[in-house]
Amino acid sequence: MTYTVTFWGTRGSIPTPGPSTSRYGGNTPCVAVEGAGGQLVVLDAGTGIRALGLDLVAKQNGAAKVEILLSHAHWDHIQGLPHFKPFFAPGNSVRIWGSRQGTTSLEAILRQQMDPAVFPVPLDALSAKLTVQQVDTDDFSIGEFRVRTIKLRHPGTTLGFRLTPAKGGEPSMAYVTDNELGTGGDYDVSKTWRRDFVTFLNGVDLLIHDAMYTPKELEQHRGWGHSTSEEAVILAQDADAKKLVLFHHEPEHGDAEMDAVLADARKFAKKRGGSLDVDAAREGMKVTL
Ligand SMILES: [Zn+2]
Ligand SMILES: [Zn+2]
Repeated sequence: MTYTVTFWGTRGSIPTPGPSTSRYGGNTPCVAVEGAGGQLVVLDAGTGIRALGLDLVAKQNGAAKVEILLSHAHWDHIQGLPHFKPFFAPGNSVRIWGSRQGTTSLEAILRQQMDPAVFPVPLDALSAKLTVQQVDTDDFSIGEFRVRTIKLRHPGTTLGFRLTPAKGGEPSMAYVTDNELGTGGDYDVSKTWRRDFVTFLNGVDLLIHDAMYTPKELEQHRGWGHSTSEEAVILAQDADAKKLVLFHHEPEHGDAEMDAVLADARKFAKKRGGSLDVDAAREGMKVTL
């Protein structure tokens, strides 16, 4: 079985269009995973989901069924949703999976995002059938994929996902963004979190991980819920991941800075030994597993 993973949005926090970010991309998080049987799972709905939606509509043959997993509901992870074209055709169905925040249901959060005060089309007026599936840290299946979840170290409730074939076997991939691997922050996770997390990721073929800050930048941002590329490399090596893709790029990092971040991360991984393959997410990049 193979997966095709496509990066439609790679940037953290806020879109950063313009010539200085044209290679690594300016759209906020959205990654599409397609299984061998054609099942599509979309990870996050940042502004990158707009172009994915156009692509899906262009290739559409009959009604579209879209499954979207949300890591959490911070703006940069949901901001493309109101502009997701498959919402606006009758016959399509879209299911959104994600966590509540405190006592606020995921559906209420999405409803607020499309409240008439801030967006002209309310959630109830979409032509497609929308299902909001609230998940906790449970496991579930979406077609040919088995999805496991784990709580991350980030403000609010943020989920990481591991996808494997529902029938068992290979390959596996994990999508982990907005996660603080360092010592900052006061998050509602168990005392054994790091150990459990490494077990959760063990042997994964592809790990997509938050690598927002340089070590120097992290000093100003402890407790903000993000990591450095070096921390992501250490985690990937601890978990015996085969490939690491650095993700959720800091808005201030243009392409030249990102080249340096990637070169440093590769050097760091090599110095520590092992065969980890390190790359940085670029908009339009495809990884086949
Ligand atoms: Zn984010
Ligand atoms: Zn966030």
